[in-house]
Amino acid sequence: MRIVRFSQNEEIGFGVIDVEKNMIYSNHDLMKVVTYEELIGLIAELNTKDLFASELYVGKFTSEFVPDSVKLLAPVVPTKNILCIGKNYYDHVLEFDGSLDDIERIKENPIFFSKALSSIIGPEDEIDPHTEVTKSLDYEAELGVIIGKTCKNVSYEEALDYVFGYTIINDVTARDVQKRHQQWFLGKSFDTFCPIGPWVVTADEIGNPNDLAITLDVNKERRQESNTSLMIHDIAKQISILSKGMTLNPGDVIATGTPKGVGIGYEPPRYLASQDVVTININKIGTLTNKIK
Ligand code: MG
Repeated sequence: MRIVRFSQNEEIGFGVIDVEKNMIYSNHDLMKVVTYEELIGLIAELNTKDLFASELYVGKFTSEFVPDSVKLLAPVVPTKNILCIGKNYYDHVLEFDGSLDDIERIKENPIFFSKALSSIIGPEDEIDPHTEVTKSLDYEAELGVIIGKTCKNVSYEEALDYVFGYTIINDVTARDVQKRHQQWFLGKSFDTFCPIGPWVVTADEIGNPNDLAITLDVNKERRQESNTSLMIHDIAKQISILSKGMTLNPGDVIATGTPKGVGIGYEPPRYLASQDVVTININKIGTLTNKIK
């Protein structure tokens, strides 16, 4: 099932999108949802396995929306900053500034950082290039993980049981700011620097999250092409380590790292400019496209 969050007129709510029928289904309860805990409870009640195969959805969904008539929003409501892992694909460590020593250290203990909640935008929003502050606007295609159940000190083996679904994230970064301040938070937290969407695909439809093709194009030119199987720390490991000492709540989001091909990895670097269009595709999820303002 694909979960969307959208606005129409003054109303904001959640719905389920059927891409083939090009229709969003919702109801009174889904339109009133504020937290992911509420959303996940409602979704469980929908008995979704048979939802579109039968007449079951009649009565459960009372409203239909044509996607073109609504604005799709970021399909997440995290309770804390976006949790991010850095340098999580071997080839990206090497292109960035890394060495084999770096990889050995990272293999033992992953790098975590976060992006401010206020940086989140949706699939129909533009990325502000903030040209007054940065001259090196860069992109990072990433698989996003949405936590489904309160999660603390979970083992590697059980970690995926706590996942509600998956989405696409662009971990937009001001490279000069990232470098200048010796800590990644600021350069990755500017307003609009966290496009997420276009929807959340529930975990049952994804199966193994560590075998998904991931690509990123700038103006239709391929820049990143990889597979989530090439992560240094897989999804279960990330959840397990993050949950040691920090409670993860329903709706919390993990950005799971980016593969080779970011702008700073090219010689000379290829940063983003106004009017560029960045398109990320992840197998079984879909496509997230955002233009630079
Ligand atoms: Mg990243």
